[in-house]
Amino acid sequence: MSGPVIAVDGPSAAGKGTLARALAAALGLPYLDTGLLYRAVARKLQEEGGDPTAAEAAADAARRLQPADLARDDLRAASMDRAASQVAALGEVRAALLGFQRDFAARAGAVLDGRDIGTVIFPEATLKLFVTASPEERALRRWRERVARGEPVTLAAVAADLAERDARDAARAAAPLRPAADAVVIDTTHLDAPAALAAAMAIAARRLGGSQLLTSPA
Ligand code: C5P
Repeated sequence: MSGPVIAVDGPSAAGKGTLARALAAALGLPYLDTGLLYRAVARKLQEEGGDPTAAEAAADAARRLQPADLARDDLRAASMDRAASQVAALGEVRAALLGFQRDFAARAGAVLDGRDIGTVIFPEATLKLFVTASPEERALRRWRERVARGEPVTLAAVAADLAERDARDAARAAAPLRPAADAVVIDTTHLDAPAALAAAMAIAARRLGGSQLLTSPA
């Protein structure tokens, strides 16, 4: 590895994206939200009339992904949540996206957030964090976000969606969601974003000591 790689894994709405982005900024590292890759594959398939559970068509869409597919502003829509988690359960799709993720960190290192960064994509990552929170708190956060966007959704419906995606992510055969054996768990149930960043920086300092990672941020 040519630069430090920090893996930030965990379930949806646990705060890992916010934390990973802040860590990358604090440490001067590139940041990749790997969930966007699966969302972009699902969107491409949807546009082409493909089935998000058909492995070959989905893997083909994954192999054809272009940078512009990742730049679209509709990937985070709640309507893409289910299809993204369906294509993500396909080993063929995951294999097609592996090289892109590894290449992203090859030059200068990176902070990557996802589900399998510490277990599959970068088993030798410099630091692995597993960010989680109680299911109730995660549902509440996601519900508040969606209501703030003007979506008429109930807390119960959001909680049910999250539980369905959690179950699919954890039960799939291909790269199931689980903490790496050497990951440090950060439970954000009672932490706001600055407190979660402070916890992560303290873990990084303990794990990495006076390494270049902590002494030469951009
Ligand atoms: O993180 P986000 O909700 O955007 O991810 C969308 C879906 O992509 C998740 O529900 C999960 O199934 C999948 N995913 C994955 N591995 C990753 C990132 C996301 O399986 N590294």
